[in-house]
Amino acid sequence: MLLAARYVLPIAAPHIVDGAIRVHGDRIMEIGEFETLKAAYPDEEVRDFGLAVLMPGFVDMHTHLEFSAMRGLVDDLPFSQWKLQLLEKQERLAQADWEDSARIGAAEALQSGITTIADISDSGASARAAAGAGLRAIVYREVATMDHRKVPDVLAQASEDIAEWRELGDPSRLSVGIAPHAVYSCHPELYRKVAEKAIAEDLPVSTHLASSKDEYDFTKYGSSRLAVDYRNAFSGADVAWLPTGVSPVRYLEQWGIYDVPQLVAVHCTQVDDEDIEILAGNDVAVAFCPRCNAKLGMGVAPLAKFLDRGVRVGIGTDSPASNNTLDMFDEMRIGLLIQRSVTGYLPHFIARQFVKMATLDAARALGVDDQVGSLEPGKQADIIAVDISHSHQIPTLYPYSTLVHTANQENVVFTMVAGQVLYDSGRWSLLDIDRIQARAEEMRVKLRG
Ligand SMILES: [Zn+2]
Repeated sequence: MLLAARYVLPIAAPHIVDGAIRVHGDRIMEIGEFETLKAAYPDEEVRDFGLAVLMPGFVDMHTHLEFSAMRGLVDDLPFSQWKLQLLEKQERLAQADWEDSARIGAAEALQSGITTIADISDSGASARAAAGAGLRAIVYREVATMDHRKVPDVLAQASEDIAEWRELGDPSRLSVGIAPHAVYSCHPELYRKVAEKAIAEDLPVSTHLASSKDEYDFTKYGSSRLAVDYRNAFSGADVAWLPTGVSPVRYLEQWGIYDVPQLVAVHCTQVDDEDIEILAGNDVAVAFCPRCNAKLGMGVAPLAKFLDRGVRVGIGTDSPASNNTLDMFDEMRIGLLIQRSVTGYLPHFIARQFVKMATLDAARALGVDDQVGSLEPGKQADIIAVDISHSHQIPTLYPYSTLVHTANQENVVFTMVAGQVLYDSGRWSLLDIDRIQARAEEMRVKLRG
C-alpha cells in the first residue's frame, strides 16, 4: 500500500513534499517522492490524503488512560488538592468502570494520532484497553506504600499482576513495567526493592519525580499539604516521615532506583542544576508534561537545560483527569510557548524540535526507537495522517510550524499501528464508540453525584 500526502515527515530525515510511504504487513518498506514510488510500484493500492501530513504516530510518554472518566471532574485546584479530591472520588468507581474509563482514553488516543502510550496503571484497565484498541503500550504497574512492613506484599501483588497483564496483548505491542508512584507515597525500601526487581527482570520503570513544590517541600523540609492531608487520608498517619534535607531527585539517589536501565522520571519541574546532573549522569529519561504542569501549577520544567545536558526528553500528556485531553498538538504548542515565554528565544524552542520530542525523542526516552518514533524502512508502520487543509491552516509553508501552531487532535484523520488501520475518519476498527459514550455518561452521573 502507498500512503501519499503533500508532506511526509520521516522525523529522522528532512521532510518530503508530495511524498509517499510504502507499507507492507506491519512494516515501513520505503519512503520517497510519490511520483517515484508510484512509477516503481504501479500496482500498489494508493491512499492519497491530499493537503495533509503523514508522520510517525505520537509517542505519549506519560498518561493514565484509566482516569479518562474523570476528565474535568476536579479543575482549577493546585496539585495537592486536586490529587486529594481525585482520590476521594475514585472510590466510587467499580472495576467495570475503570475498564470503560480506560477505553474512553484509548479511543481518544487513537483519534488524536497517539500510537504508543507509556501508561501508569493501578487497576490494569489501561493494559486491557490498550490491547483491545490495538495501541502500542508500555503499561507500568503502579506500586505505593509508606509502610515498610507492607513492601513484600505490595511487590508480590505487583508481580502477579505484571505476569497477568503480559498475557493481555501481543508482546510486540504490549509490554509491562513497574511504577513506584512518588516520593511522598513510597517508602524508600519500596524504591530499593523495585530497583532490584527491575534490574533482575529487565522491567522498565516510571515514577513521578520532583513534580510539585508540595512534593519538594515534603521531601526536603518534611512539611507541606502532602505531609498533612494526603498522608493522613491515604498513607496511614502512624508512619513517620522526617525531613530529608535534600531535593526529591537527590533523595532518591540513595535508593538504587537510578541504576535501572530504563527509568522515566515524570514531570521534573522542581529540579536545580545539581539534580539535572544526577539525572543526566544516570541516563534517566524525563517525561515533559507541559500542559499538566501548567494547569496544576506544578512549575515549569527546565527543558533547555535538560536538552543541553543530553537528557532524553519526550512529551507526555498525563491523564485526562488533569489535562484534560490527550492532545499532543496542544502539548507541543503550549510547551513551546511556555518555554519561550519563560526563557526567551533559545535554539531548542522551535516547532521541529517539539515534533521530534513528541515522536522520535519520546521513543528514544522509552527505549523503543528501534521500532517506532520515525518513518524509516524496516520500522513498524505506526503512521498517522493529519489534515491541514482548513482555513486556519492554509497556506502551509512549513509543515512543522503548521502542526505545532495551527493543528489539534481533531485534525488527525487516520491512525495506523503495525500496518493495521485503527482509526479512519471518525471510525474505530476495534472499539465500540457508541457503547463507550454511553458508559461515559453513566460514569459522569456516578462521579458527580
Ligand atoms: Zn501521572
